[in-house]
Amino acid sequence: MAFNKRVKIKTLLEQSPIGESVTIMGWVRTRRSNKNVSFIALNDGSIITNYQVVADPNQISEEILKKCATGACLKISGTVVESQGSGQTSELHANSIEVLGEADPEKYPLQPKKHSLEFLREIAHLRMRTNTFGAVFRVRHALAFAVHQYFNDKGFFYIHTPIITASDAEGAGETFKVTTLDIGNPPKTEDGSVDFKQDFFEREANLTVSGQLEGELAALALSEIYTFGPTFRAENSNTTRHLAEFWMIEPEMAFYDAEDNADLAEDFLKYLINYAIENCQEDLKFLENRLLDEEKSKPADQRSEMGLIEKLKFVAENDFVRITYTEAIDILKRSKPNQKKKFQYLIEEWGADLQSEHERYLVEKHFKKPVILTDYPKEIKSFYMRQNEDGKTVAAMDILFPGIGEIVGGSQREERMDLLVSRMEELGIPTDEMWWFLDTRRFGSTPHAGFGLGFERMVQFVTGMGNIRDVIAFPRTPGNAEF
Ligand code: ATP
Ligand code: MN
Repeated sequence: MAFNKRVKIKTLLEQSPIGESVTIMGWVRTRRSNKNVSFIALNDGSIITNYQVVADPNQISEEILKKCATGACLKISGTVVESQGSGQTSELHANSIEVLGEADPEKYPLQPKKHSLEFLREIAHLRMRTNTFGAVFRVRHALAFAVHQYFNDKGFFYIHTPIITASDAEGAGETFKVTTLDIGNPPKTEDGSVDFKQDFFEREANLTVSGQLEGELAALALSEIYTFGPTFRAENSNTTRHLAEFWMIEPEMAFYDAEDNADLAEDFLKYLINYAIENCQEDLKFLENRLLDEEKSKPADQRSEMGLIEKLKFVAENDFVRITYTEAIDILKRSKPNQKKKFQYLIEEWGADLQSEHERYLVEKHFKKPVILTDYPKEIKSFYMRQNEDGKTVAAMDILFPGIGEIVGGSQREERMDLLVSRMEELGIPTDEMWWFLDTRRFGSTPHAGFGLGFERMVQFVTGMGNIRDVIAFPRTPGNAEF
């Protein structure tokens, strides 16, 4: 007989087949015993709820029961009966228990008590066995699934762009190098610099910071595409919103202008939120209570005005605010924190780059809504963004979310060859190396646009987790690559 004839706890809770014999498998969360009977709360990760198993010492030997301690993995066969206790409709009366994997209760790092998120980060290999992380990773899965559902329904094609590239799309230079050269003793050219001609790719290569440029090539053939893959940035920013390795969703569409782009982004974000609200009810309820609990330790004025689910509904049901960078600068200049010099970076004049404190002021204090900011000064944005008539701004679009700041960055792309080339030359971006990118403008160019959504920031927003390290299974940040 096959080993796995188990019923998932999620199914058992949904169906409660009273009187039937079933087998469940999972990990012990808690066990309570008295003289007559033991209660085991079993969790198999299929759902946040534990399933209650009642084990009678007349049926299950004391030796086995001793091993059913927190953390142990069990296979339990028994009869589904109506629950005597509260809450659940059914429970399992055990006929047999097989201990699949013991866990020494003295040494098991996860105790039934509450652990801090910081502590759990140090045991990331086990933290998925907690309610919080089980909920986060089920929601993360649902959102990833919804991404594909959304684009597939709209006729977009999923493109796998390369992870190793020779281009640095942002021109930021914050890349991880990919090489097979002996870094202690690399081959040198005559002028003493490293001879990358002798490297694996016969040139310098790095991990991708974005799939956009390749995405553009695909959009100018398949019309509407998206990427969803890992991206890497060697930026040394130890914030609650930056990872060195994160996942990005990048749709790229031919025949879209800036407004089409913003419309798609808003619709997409709302779809993801609604998908989670509809499909992750139990987990979101749990995460909402977790957040409430966490906020109790904060001063009253820093607590959120809405509960998690109410906030999600609010964002999904209301129009995002759309303003230009220039309008935002006016608001920020006149704002209290700017007047009272409370911002770390004061907004003095047009052209200033917006910091996260400014983005969050606009979203959380001024508008109290997600904001789509458009038409930034070209100096603070990338070379590929479409230049506006004014000669000063580009058709950029950032979407700012409460509690997160920038969640989406995008733009209409510069489709005009002459303007693109002159901008690249101004910025010192080698046009010869980018010949393949420029070919799309050379041959059959067309207006097109796209954006990048940081997947972990979206998961943060939906789950209410304050630190981005807690929404990816094994976070990579400066100094951290354990597990
Ligand atoms: P930020 O200013 O917050 O560093 P960015 O301007 O570098 O963001 P983009 O290059 O436009 O961001 O990337 C698109 C999206 O990818 C961002 O809107 C954000 O959601 C996400 N993102 C960017 N950098 C990171 C990172 N280091 N970790 C996680 N997500 C990120
Ligand atoms: Mn960045």
